[in-house]
Amino acid sequence: MPFVSEPVSPLDPAALQAVSDAAVAAAAAAVSLADLAARRRQWTGDQSLIAQANRAIKDLPGPDRAQAGKNMGAVKRRVNEAFETRRGELEEAAASDKLSQEKVDVTWPTDRRPPGARHPLELLQEKIADVFTAMGWTIAEGPELEAEWLNFDALNFGPDHPARQMQDTFFVDPPGSGLVLRTHTSPVQARVLLSQGAPCYVAVPGKVFRTDELDATHTPVFHQVEGLAVDKRLTMADLRGTLDHLADAMFGGGATTRLRPSFFPFTEPSAEMDLACFACGGRDPECRTCGGSGWIEWGGCGMVDPNVLVACGVDPTEYQGFAFGMGIERTLMFRAGVQDMHDMVEGDARFSRNYGVGI
Ligand SMILES: [Zn+2]
Repeated sequence: MPFVSEPVSPLDPAALQAVSDAAVAAAAAAVSLADLAARRRQWTGDQSLIAQANRAIKDLPGPDRAQAGKNMGAVKRRVNEAFETRRGELEEAAASDKLSQEKVDVTWPTDRRPPGARHPLELLQEKIADVFTAMGWTIAEGPELEAEWLNFDALNFGPDHPARQMQDTFFVDPPGSGLVLRTHTSPVQARVLLSQGAPCYVAVPGKVFRTDELDATHTPVFHQVEGLAVDKRLTMADLRGTLDHLADAMFGGGATTRLRPSFFPFTEPSAEMDLACFACGGRDPECRTCGGSGWIEWGGCGMVDPNVLVACGVDPTEYQGFAFGMGIERTLMFRAGVQDMHDMVEGDARFSRNYGVGI
């Protein structure tokens, strides 16, 4: 930077060039807005060389004044422009500094964790258990890895029953281990009868396994609730009354069931259990819930086959029993209008939160 300290004549182009060069260099070297303001006062303020040169114009002889004014105008424009340019740069830098200091780091760990939710299947299972407990029944659980004998033979499934084939059942290695992943909750009934004998009233909610592909209406792992009552003088009427009570507790509004003849190895007689459509009451031929039939398939039931009682050490001439079972996923689909099985197995808390925490 040229050193300029002598008064400058407004008619000396070399000196004016030197002083304006020095002022421009000073502007460019400013490191902050405050620094720039100080430098500006120094180079353009009242005491500055440029101001002094400007004031000297009025003392010049008339003919020289025009040239001097023109010279000084050019110097002031150049110097002002240099300070303005630097001011723009410094302001921009200050703004971006501020932004970078104030920016929000979205990856920063936070304590505001979204609340989790209990799975609606778990909640529904508990609600069903409550219904039975209120009737004086007990709740039983059993192993998911089950003896083939308890899963099939004790329940009157013959050795050639189709449900034993590979397409339905997960057999457990090594072959001949005698173990399966239970295909229904019924083996728990056999366990309870074998260990406690009659009379018994037991409900068994739990997880079961079938070799189905996961799609909108099937899943290889699902939940059932099963009921078994064994006592003297039990009839289909007791079964029907129990089912209607459960239907009402699950769907409300005096929901009822109907029974259609069917076949299961472990009950005789056996029936499919339909639920009166709680959505349309059977009055809407376009109803999406029941397909217009007025009835929804809900599960299976029947009077316990005497062979099962014998296998479990209960005298069928003295005791009768009834049993029923239904899918909990299916029940949730009806209760809550869930359309797709994927929603129930994917574990997305946004799905579960809709059902509340229900502790
Ligand atoms: Zn309907």
